Amino acid sequence: LAFAALPCILRLSVSYSNTSPLTVLSGSSCYLHSYESSPSSPSISVTTYLDTRNNVPSVGHSNPNVNAAISAQVYAINTNTRYLHPNINSLASKLIATLPPLDGNDSWVVTLTNSGSESNDLALRIANWYTSGGPVITYDMSYHGHTSALISVSPYKLKQIGETSPRPNTYWLKHPNVYRCPSSSPSTHYKAEFDEVLSSIKSPPTLIYEIGMSVGGVCLPPPTYLAHVTDGVRARKGCVIYDCVQTGCGRFGENKWWGFEREDGAVPDIVTVGKPLGNGHPISALCAKKSVIRNFDTCGMEYFNTFGGNPVSCAAGLAVMEEVDRMRLPQNAEAVGSYLMSRFQAICSDFPTIVGDVRGVGLFIGVEILATPQTQQTSPLPPPPGTAETSWLCSKLKDEYRILSTIDGEHDNVIVVKPPLTFGVEEATYFTSCFRELVKKLLSLKASSNFDASGGKTPT
Ligand code: PMP
Repeated sequence: LAFAALPCILRLSVSYSNTSPLTVLSGSSCYLHSYESSPSSPSISVTTYLDTRNNVPSVGHSNPNVNAAISAQVYAINTNTRYLHPNINSLASKLIATLPPLDGNDSWVVTLTNSGSESNDLALRIANWYTSGGPVITYDMSYHGHTSALISVSPYKLKQIGETSPRPNTYWLKHPNVYRCPSSSPSTHYKAEFDEVLSSIKSPPTLIYEIGMSVGGVCLPPPTYLAHVTDGVRARKGCVIYDCVQTGCGRFGENKWWGFEREDGAVPDIVTVGKPLGNGHPISALCAKKSVIRNFDTCGMEYFNTFGGNPVSCAAGLAVMEEVDRMRLPQNAEAVGSYLMSRFQAICSDFPTIVGDVRGVGLFIGVEILATPQTQQTSPLPPPPGTAETSWLCSKLKDEYRILSTIDGEHDNVIVVKPPLTFGVEEATYFTSCFRELVKKLLSLKASSNFDASGGKTPT
């Protein structure tokens, strides 16, 4: 079947089995278009979805400037990264310019890779060398990537196969969750938990932490927590890795290119960046302090990555960073994010038995859904999570309003909002208006005992 006639779809020749429908996607800024056809119904139907979940096309689906930069570099040259190309230095310099200045003679060093997993895997190798094999502290809802080493420090994954305790030389901390904290002082509570773990460790540790815990359901650390854990690890001559794979590149808003910029004194030893950097093209990076990575140089084993930092990937990364600046996307994340938060907060105040909490920063927002029946008191905290309700809401958002959303959190009851950074006020208004309607509908179904907890399909 030839699709050459369709705009947005590049001369695609495909064949498909007799039964399965064919779906082809294209995109533009915050929207995804799904073209569907099947042998039984060969005419093409097009459905357009508003994308509220996708932090990969950070500068908008099919961004023309990024596409042009990639194409131009493809025509010029693409090759093994043993051949030095100026794009490598340009991208590394641009990344370094976003990082905070370091003390004394220290500076940032950048290594380019092809995925968040590759960056984090290398970060663990560097940290392991730097700490002479010291233990790794991770969080009970974290995910850091798909290599074997990263799975071992990703309890979110380990729990899926029934592993509920840390692997050797690893410690799990409860992820800071201000809303569900058992104490009225989350900052003191989570710092004390960290101190307790640290005091039980004898050798220099590595801390790997994703500030904001995406799959944990957007849990930002309480005030001064970051500086506390950073200082704690550093005082033990350990290594701090902040995994900014999901949250980097301006998602947290103005003056916060990186999540750790929320707090003074929380500068890590290694920062990893991935998803948003290539707008869908595979490019990622590891930024490490020279004082930390220099040590790794002496380990004897070179690090080589055939495709990491190839000229085309670097062109993609450079174009994305230029687009972030040109369109002032961190400023947009700040402004539209605050507007979106205030609209969700209004829904939370109007329907507190369904929407328990709205939290986040910039265009990284979590909306926590509860199961509490309308008539029941929500005290004492924490109220029961509404897993089936969340699934119902996301399913209806997709089917009735063509809005793609995503569910995360320890109890699968947090709608995580992390759209392309080009998300505008119009999209935010539409999204929250539809969401409000669905919350009303959900309440009335529950009030009349007509809510079918198994009825919500898991959204795709
Ligand atoms: N770290 C975090 C926080 C992630 O969310 C992910 C991917 N979801 C990764 C690392 C791994 O990135 P990748 O899939 O690009 O390997």
